[in-house]
Amino acid sequence: MKFNEYPIESLMYITNRPEIVFTHGKGSWLHDNTGKRYLDFVQGWAVNSLGHCNEGVIDALDKQARLLINPSPAFYNEPMAQLAGLLTQHSCFDKVFFANSGAEANEGAIKLARKWGKKFKHGAYEIITFDHSFHGRTLATMSASGKPGWDTIYAPQVPGFPKADLNDITSVEKLINAKTVAVMLEPIQGEGGVIPATREFMQQLRALTKKHNVLMIVDEVQSGCGRAGTLFAYELAGIEPDVMTLGKGIGSGVPLAALLAKAECEVFEAGDQGGTYNGNPLMTAVGYSVISQLTAPGFLEGVRQRGEYLRAQLLELSKERGFEGERGEGLLRALLLGKDIGNQIVEKARLLQPDGLLLNAARPNLLRFMPALNVTTDEIDQMMTMLRTVLDSL
Ligand SMILES: *Cc1c(COP(=O)(O)O)cnc(C)c1O
Repeated sequence: MKFNEYPIESLMYITNRPEIVFTHGKGSWLHDNTGKRYLDFVQGWAVNSLGHCNEGVIDALDKQARLLINPSPAFYNEPMAQLAGLLTQHSCFDKVFFANSGAEANEGAIKLARKWGKKFKHGAYEIITFDHSFHGRTLATMSASGKPGWDTIYAPQVPGFPKADLNDITSVEKLINAKTVAVMLEPIQGEGGVIPATREFMQQLRALTKKHNVLMIVDEVQSGCGRAGTLFAYELAGIEPDVMTLGKGIGSGVPLAALLAKAECEVFEAGDQGGTYNGNPLMTAVGYSVISQLTAPGFLEGVRQRGEYLRAQLLELSKERGFEGERGEGLLRALLLGKDIGNQIVEKARLLQPDGLLLNAARPNLLRFMPALNVTTDEIDQMMTMLRTVLDSL
């Protein structure tokens, strides 16, 4: 169908979208309504960890759809238990609660921390978060986020989220008081422009939160599930947080998220937390397939190798074009352009012929790369060739 034949005008406006409609995809490639192909280094915003329409994901959806779609969150189901078991087996956490989005998982973490504060810290409720952080689009998670302008769009904010500076431990220490219940951070700020918390900072934060008996919450919605080259990014610093949230990559494209906690932090009582679709077998069956594939022998080693390969290619390009280098972990990386040409590059890359390239400029002066974790080095080479073509045309 032609673009103007779709009832696009019936959709509520939320952002500027290009005038194409995506129809199907496979692996690193996406196809639109005109038959054009795109090499996808956005992957639904670091969501499709195994690329478009992964066979294991299709299989899990197909099998589970024929068995049981939703018995209600008030009952146990098989995939929910199996996925929880897999996650506790492969992490430092003991308990899992499933949700439908990263924001919802973070809401759960905020509630868990506030309940824990009520129980063990005389009603402490403040959660220290960070400038330029992103934790979701609900009112509480927007308030927790340090995105410029988000404090006023839907004012008044949810109170209790003082902001510190990433990689500056004294800025955190200054904010700790009797009302502090937790510190929450992304081990790699994704939307903020792929800014990793240093290993030293993560270790200092762990020591500081232990010293003051406050919880350390890691929002691994973007950095988790293999993206950083380890199953979870907190592993890179050799520390164990108290609480973690997952989203995006855990479902490789389907709405699935999770809140994980150490046994000592499990404070919910009957009725405190829930949700109609939480832990539904259709999505948790997909999550089980995804985590099984990510933890299969050699897979994460491959992510690290391809991450190193992408890093080397980006550094070479940076040198060649006089850019400012690159940063990131695993297959979440940014090319630092040194000038505000990011959006222009994204636009031109999509319009390339015959095949387009999908990129993201998390900030105007950088490009963010978040390909499928099973992207091939050949596809990375193709992306680099296309990117050079775009840069030549500027
Ligand atoms: C995307 C993201 C979220 C929000 O996830 P949704 O599924 O969009 O609600 C939260 N935290 C981080 C770090 C993210 O990248």
